[in-house]
Amino acid sequence: MLRVALAEARAGYAEGGVPIGAALFGPDGGLLGRGRNRRVQDDDPSVHGETAAFRDAGRQRSYRGTTMVTTLSPCWYCSGLILQFGIPRVVVGEDRTFEGRHAWLAEHGVEVIVVDDPECVELMTTFIKERPDLWNEDIGADE
Ligand SMILES: [Zn+2]
Repeated sequence: MLRVALAEARAGYAEGGVPIGAALFGPDGGLLGRGRNRRVQDDDPSVHGETAAFRDAGRQRSYRGTTMVTTLSPCWYCSGLILQFGIPRVVVGEDRTFEGRHAWLAEHGVEVIVVDDPECVELMTTFIKERPDLWNEDIGADE
C-alpha cells in the first residue's frame, strides 16, 4: 500500500512540488483514492497528500475499516481529517524528517503503523536539502 503513496510522492517531486503522497484504501484493501501535496502545482496550501487522497476517494458512506497510507507523518490538519471522518488506521512511511501528530492520533484510538521506509526517508531528505525554502513554507516554519 505504501508503494502507491510513494509513487504519488515521487510524481510530486518530479513536478517540483513537495514530495508527500498518500492513498486511502477500503476495508477489502481496494484503492479508494490517491493523491499528493499540490501546494506548488495548484498554488494551494490546503492540498496535502492525505486531503488529496481523501477527496479523490469521493463520497463514502462509511470510513469503517479504511486505511490512510501516507509517506510522511501527518500534520495537525490531516490528523484532524482522519479523526473527523473516523478513519481507523494510518500507515506512516516515515517520521524521521518530520514528526507530525500520529502520536496524538494513537491517543485517540487510531491504529498507527510507522513503517520507517528508507525510500520515503531518502526522498524527503533529498527534497529538504534541495528546497529548504519550500519545505519551511510547507511546515509553516520561519527560516
Ligand atoms: Zn497534512
